[in-house]
Amino acid sequence: MENNLDASKVLVIDDEQSLRDGAERILTRMDFLVEKASRGDEGLETLKTYPASIVLLDMKMPGMDGMEVLKLIMEMNRGILVIVITGFATVETAIEAMKHGAYDFIPKPYEPDQLRIVVNRARERIQLKLDTEKLEKERLRTLSDLHTEQSRVHTIIESLPNGVLVTNTEGQVVLINPAFCQHMGLEAGIEPGRQIEEYVSNEKFCELVMDISKGKYIDYDDIPSHELGVSVGKYLIARARPVLGEKRECLGAVVNLADISAMKALDQLKSEFIAKVSHELRSPLSTIHEQIAMVIKDISGEIPEDDQHILARAQEKTMGLITTISDLLDLSRLEAGIGARNPQNVQVEKLLKSIVDFMDARIKAKNLTLTLEISEDQLAPVLADPMSLESVYGNLISNSINYTPEGGEIKVTADMSGNNLRVIVKDNGFGIDAKYTDKIFERFYRVKNNKTRFITGTGLGLPIVKEIVDSLDGFIDVDSEVNKGTSFTVILPTEKSKSFKGIM
Ligand code: ADP
Repeated sequence: MENNLDASKVLVIDDEQSLRDGAERILTRMDFLVEKASRGDEGLETLKTYPASIVLLDMKMPGMDGMEVLKLIMEMNRGILVIVITGFATVETAIEAMKHGAYDFIPKPYEPDQLRIVVNRARERIQLKLDTEKLEKERLRTLSDLHTEQSRVHTIIESLPNGVLVTNTEGQVVLINPAFCQHMGLEAGIEPGRQIEEYVSNEKFCELVMDISKGKYIDYDDIPSHELGVSVGKYLIARARPVLGEKRECLGAVVNLADISAMKALDQLKSEFIAKVSHELRSPLSTIHEQIAMVIKDISGEIPEDDQHILARAQEKTMGLITTISDLLDLSRLEAGIGARNPQNVQVEKLLKSIVDFMDARIKAKNLTLTLEISEDQLAPVLADPMSLESVYGNLISNSINYTPEGGEIKVTADMSGNNLRVIVKDNGFGIDAKYTDKIFERFYRVKNNKTRFITGTGLGLPIVKEIVDSLDGFIDVDSEVNKGTSFTVILPTEKSKSFKGIM
């Protein structure tokens, strides 16, 4: 209320004591606090310290007349509701008073009920005014809270070391922070408003952001991230997620961009170290392995059976170590991009036959049946490094031999799936529990149970396979059931499917 008038306070200004007292009685019963004044100037003086919201004002008083007092009250505070009390003959005065801002009038003499009705009306009006003022205050506070909150969030986003970019459902950029511009080499303070492709040049990533913006990824937990190389030695990782409204409707996408150059450099150092150590270990280990083989061959008849067994175990262990080291070297080579250095058109049909031939001894030793089914249709060649492809199919077939018990069956099929080449390696072996099917592609991960415990391996075969398949823009999937068998499917683009972009 204006100048904090008090809705419960009334001032009665009247020169007649009986009327003042009468009014006071009625108003007190109506739960008002009442002050009285017998003259205009006295009333004005009271109002300076007594914040009455309603004034009952007699128009006809000795000294300063009512109209004059009214004008001065209005000057003092227009929020005060002045009810003028006038004699019968002075209706014009009442009208005049209303013109000067009086709220209502009561003809004199009045009945108590008349006073109650008029004062009640004034009270309701004051209450309404109070409520409106309260609402307005709350509205202003909410707006100012919102404004403070918005500017706080804005300042935080502006100060983040990570890049942040937000798009609307059309893929139009609506927010871009300085770190984003700096990481991407965009001019500082570049305005939002244009399509995402104008800020990020990586086509695949922009496609993903568009799809997310349009709501295609609302229920995805695992949206792929993208590495963006902007300059030599600088690596960025961009992750995008949908922005959801209250009803989980998609409002656009938010992109977070982080500099991972230091992590990459460390990773590279680690790979180089592993490659170096593996390389240094491989030759002496191979020598030891060969020497043990020679000892076994030359003197096997001359030493006791127990010692022969020890030598055989030593030979097995050195072989295991050599395999681990070879796998580590393969991985390092892949990480360094060497696997992609020698791409040629590879006829997978021939490659599969030679791998199966190579594994023949192991297949026979376990009494397994391996059938190779090549589709009648011409298989399109795959543009890849032949060694890498051999590694992919070789690892899968080798695993199916390892993890299928004696007498089991393995089936390798190759055909075209549209313009892509599909190879399936299926066995009826031990199978893999569904909870491990993602994990087996992680480095060094091996499923350990009663059946697999005694099978030697490194846990690096499938990570190598996945790395190669990914580098060829291909796709690998596993379908398995414990004690029923496992089926790995590898789909690779061929020269016929130039624009193959993996299967999402
Ligand atoms: P390794 O065979 O050297 O242990 P891999 O990375 O090739 O390493 O495989 C990881 C794990 O996946 C294996 O330890 C095994 O438990 C499981 N696995 C792979 N292929 C098969 C298969 N065909 N049948 C059952 N389990 C398999």
